Amino acid sequence: MSILQLTGGWIEVIAGVMFSGKSEELMRRVRRAMIARKRVQVFKSHLDDRYAGLFAVSSHDGRSVEAIPVDSSAQIAARIDPMAHVIAIDEAQFLDEGIGNVATSLAVRGRRVILAGTDTDFRGEPFGPMPRLLAIAEVVDKLHAICVLCGAPACRNQRLIFGEPAAWDSPVIMVGAKDTYEARCRACHVVVRGNAAQAGLGI
Ligand SMILES: [Zn+2]
Repeated sequence: MSILQLTGGWIEVIAGVMFSGKSEELMRRVRRAMIARKRVQVFKSHLDDRYAGLFAVSSHDGRSVEAIPVDSSAQIAARIDPMAHVIAIDEAQFLDEGIGNVATSLAVRGRRVILAGTDTDFRGEPFGPMPRLLAIAEVVDKLHAICVLCGAPACRNQRLIFGEPAAWDSPVIMVGAKDTYEARCRACHVVVRGNAAQAGLGI
């Protein structure tokens, strides 16, 4: 189904790895909604607070909308502008499972809900509420980055801790840790499996 054919409320998910342009695509859709004179609200998960206060979308006619930092689905529900036609949520993977119900209730009330998020964690496993969001959305776009090793389309987040591939059992979210990420394809993606993980997987 194309976005052009949808009426009433609906849910769109822009999924993909880091560096795949998800936020840019979210902002492109927000900008187009603003051109169409829709009232837009943008939320951004709090965890990625490097850009808090700096993250605003401007349209050519000088109007702009600033992203509201949040760290739970309840905060989004509490801060919804009842007059907004379009609700855009960036970094949705860091939110709790309640975001599915919030998105559904907005869509039921005729709102267009656009969520962007990283669909897999550094292990290549589904990330937070993203699987459910992908299931309940009317429209899903999965974006790819470019593998920094071989140049193929990248579908995995390679996590490096002090420059080395991260272990399977390292915490998914380490705020402020000395870890970095790069986009890689499935073949170039490396996760160091510890003993516990090997036992659990039977390999
Ligand atoms: Zn590769």
